[in-house]
Amino acid sequence: GGSGAGGGANDTATSGAATSGDATSDTGKELYVGVSMPTQTSERWIADGNAVKEGLEAEGHTVDLQFANDDIPTQTQQIDQMITNGVDVLVIASIDGTALSSQLDAAAAKGIPVISYDRLIRDNENVDFYVSFDNYKVGVAQATSLLYGLGLTDIKGEPVADAPKGPIDIEIFAGSPDDNNAKFFFDGAMDTLKPYLDDGTLVIKSGQTEFDQVAILRWSQEGAQKRMEDLITSTYAGGKDLKGVLSPFDGISRGIITALTNAGYGPTLTDGLPVVTGQDAEIASVKLINDGIQWSTIFKDTRLLANQAVLSVLAMAADKTPEANNTEDYDNGKKVVPSYLLEVSTIYKDNIESELIESGYFTAEQVEKGA
Ligand code: BGC
Repeated sequence: GGSGAGGGANDTATSGAATSGDATSDTGKELYVGVSMPTQTSERWIADGNAVKEGLEAEGHTVDLQFANDDIPTQTQQIDQMITNGVDVLVIASIDGTALSSQLDAAAAKGIPVISYDRLIRDNENVDFYVSFDNYKVGVAQATSLLYGLGLTDIKGEPVADAPKGPIDIEIFAGSPDDNNAKFFFDGAMDTLKPYLDDGTLVIKSGQTEFDQVAILRWSQEGAQKRMEDLITSTYAGGKDLKGVLSPFDGISRGIITALTNAGYGPTLTDGLPVVTGQDAEIASVKLINDGIQWSTIFKDTRLLANQAVLSVLAMAADKTPEANNTEDYDNGKKVVPSYLLEVSTIYKDNIESELIESGYFTAEQVEKGA
């Protein structure tokens, strides 16, 4: 599980928040903050939730942290309860971005500011601020790492001279259709792959190229494994032609890899396992990358995001506007929500040490064990 990442993440997020303590001084008041996270099945949300909680507690505030088991009614009930209990600020990472309107209306009626955490809450004007990573760039980074893994570009996505001519068979997966981020990841990735698809270097052999055809509800590992098994049966039954799979999330990546190895691919990249991308640097996937099985993942430092959320809570509570670095891209259907977007990095076997271990996100032992 995720307790390992959570532990490492918490320590640093706490000290990060503590150094920015001057933001509190003018609130003068102890805050009660509701933090609603979508699920504990993926360790990033545990790390996120704990880091926000500990960051706020380090500033002397009280936090009600809840996880909703990827179940929409659970999340709406938990938020309703937080509002009833009188929280001063809400921090929410939604399951379904369109399902929280009555909660947001109730919060607004009581003057409770709402910070949308990582995933944009849609179709309601009472979203005060958005903290996330640059989601379009996540998609660009995923596709760039796929192109690099297929030998078509260098690590930065620049064309290389001795690139294979193709056609190279790939398949693509997208995240949950009710998560606003999923479309951003997909668009960033598809814009990056487009020239290679247009000139026939890359071929999505199944013909399943539209978001709705490739999206995996709730980012489910099992759902992804099932879809990959179906693709192998329908499209790759005759051989081992598949060379790469665009995957938007490490859980989905592991489902894809399981289906592929069960069908006789691999078991490692050097034995013909297709290049599979990912996201979140989950410990199980970091181990697979270290073992030469999964190709890459995108590292989103949840310690930094949590710290940004803490700063935003403190600003809102002091009736100040949190610092935004994007006021254009995140239209939630009712308004453009001012946002603070963080950068990401791509992880390969070669930089696990420098990016994840030296930064204290994981220990070498965790990477070794995958837990
Ligand atoms: C997050 C990703 C995560 C996915 C599945 C998205 O909203 O931005 O980091 O991989 O949800 O949990």
